[in-house]
Amino acid sequence: MEGCIADVRCPNCGAPAKYDIIKHQYLCSYCGGHAEIEEAIAQKKGFRSILKSRIKREAEKYNLISAECPGCGAKIVVEEGEAVSDCAFCGAALVRKIYLVSDDLPEMIIPFRITKEEAQNCLREWCGKNVIRTEAKHLKNKIDKLQGFYLPYELILGPVSSIVSRSDGGSRDYYCEGYVDDIFVNGSRQLDNLLLDGMEPFEKDELKEFDFGYVAGQRVKVTDIDPKALEGRVDEEVSSSYRPVVQKTLETAAVDVSTSTESIMRMPVLLPVYYVKDGMSMAAVNGQTGKVSVRAEKESHYYFLPWWVKAILATLIISMVVFAGFRLFGMPMETAVLITMLLAFFTLIVTLCAYSDTVKVDFRESAGHRILTTDNRPLRRVDGTLVKDPQPIKRETVPPVFYETIEGKEQPVMLKFTSAPRLAEMVILAAVVLFLPVIIALFLNGFDFKKLNLSGSAVWFCIMVPVIPIYLLKFGRIELYERPWIYRILEDGSKKRYRKKPDPDAVKETAKIVLHGLFVPPVCFGVWFGILCFGIICWLTAFGY
Ligand SMILES: [Zn+2]
Ligand SMILES: [Zn+2]
Repeated sequence: MEGCIADVRCPNCGAPAKYDIIKHQYLCSYCGGHAEIEEAIAQKKGFRSILKSRIKREAEKYNLISAECPGCGAKIVVEEGEAVSDCAFCGAALVRKIYLVSDDLPEMIIPFRITKEEAQNCLREWCGKNVIRTEAKHLKNKIDKLQGFYLPYELILGPVSSIVSRSDGGSRDYYCEGYVDDIFVNGSRQLDNLLLDGMEPFEKDELKEFDFGYVAGQRVKVTDIDPKALEGRVDEEVSSSYRPVVQKTLETAAVDVSTSTESIMRMPVLLPVYYVKDGMSMAAVNGQTGKVSVRAEKESHYYFLPWWVKAILATLIISMVVFAGFRLFGMPMETAVLITMLLAFFTLIVTLCAYSDTVKVDFRESAGHRILTTDNRPLRRVDGTLVKDPQPIKRETVPPVFYETIEGKEQPVMLKFTSAPRLAEMVILAAVVLFLPVIIALFLNGFDFKKLNLSGSAVWFCIMVPVIPIYLLKFGRIELYERPWIYRILEDGSKKRYRKKPDPDAVKETAKIVLHGLFVPPVCFGVWFGILCFGIICWLTAFGY
């Protein structure tokens, strides 16, 4: 396998080396060689400086000019004969200058796969499929304004570490490490970042060393975002590309991810993009895959509700369904209303408890332009004609490895939150608590089911039927989310469940509280009274009145 030219190479045999998150090394699957993170970074630096000096040498053979925009600051490099008029990003007239080759040309490039006419066809096709949209109506007349650019990006690859937490009430942080190798961060200040994100992904394996031959007949845009802002974008994009896998592990969409990108490598690349901006119309077509991305003209508004509004809404919906059910089965109107109202009261208590855990948001509104895109199936050239690949491009993110401090040492682990055995354990426990007096009664009367008198436990049921769901929602969720089952990942890759030994101090503390409750007045009177009542309930259930 050739791999991509941006891959880290095995220092022994030159084959692409894969990063191993647990060993913190790049490993070669051919010869078993390995490279440390620092070695890989040095390797890329060397690779880049060789390319850089070659680019400078070759630049002398080409007559390039730069066209700079006094309006938005965009700087475009073209061949001398190329006509340049107005800035495609803001409309101002461009100023031609002699281009002095500096360090602003990237060392790598993904060449255009599709021609301008083909890109125009992609956009035309999108307009045809979205005739009812205003965007399509406006874009339809601007298709000939679509212009090709090599846009400045940075390819991000390397190990990343993240601190993640649940933003829906969990109080603890998790630490995980992962690896990224296909994130492209856009280095243009004037262009809509989300619009450009919309036409990704690119196919990284077509990355080539930069050559001036690619500039012929094309426009190359030079990076113009300031380094601090670019760094911010890198952190943001790495975090957001890692968010989906973290969400899967933590079993919730509500996660905060903050990522450290200390050990990553950033490599400037040029990516092929067709772009049009005219008034409110804004669209980009991926010059490699033909994916279309269009920015909605109107802003969309998103509303966030406070938790108690959600609880009331949930109660209303549940109650309406229940009421409809009662009526459907022929329950008289008055009875249906009465029972629904009783149930609604109970449901409200439960939903209030359930939602009070979530983020305490007040009424909030946010607005933004939606990005409309086509799917991820790329166009490929087969015998000269473009055909759509039935297989979409898949982005494979390496699943993160979580770390926990076990016996004073950071160790790689796998976390499991809700799992079938864990949920079953909770349901069984809840059932045991609910039927506790009945179970004890059966033991008392020697499993004589005929003597069993369920009404003896009526008081217990009345207390436990509302308490158990509330308890499960409130504390069961916290138990699930705050104390995941931890599996240690052993040397050979196998996993072993780790159970924390009970803390002796905590055990002593619990024993003290129990003894205090049993023997120190006045609390002990209440406790003994409770035990006595429970005993009576069990007795009545066992033998009747
Ligand atoms: Zn090797
Ligand atoms: Zn401009």
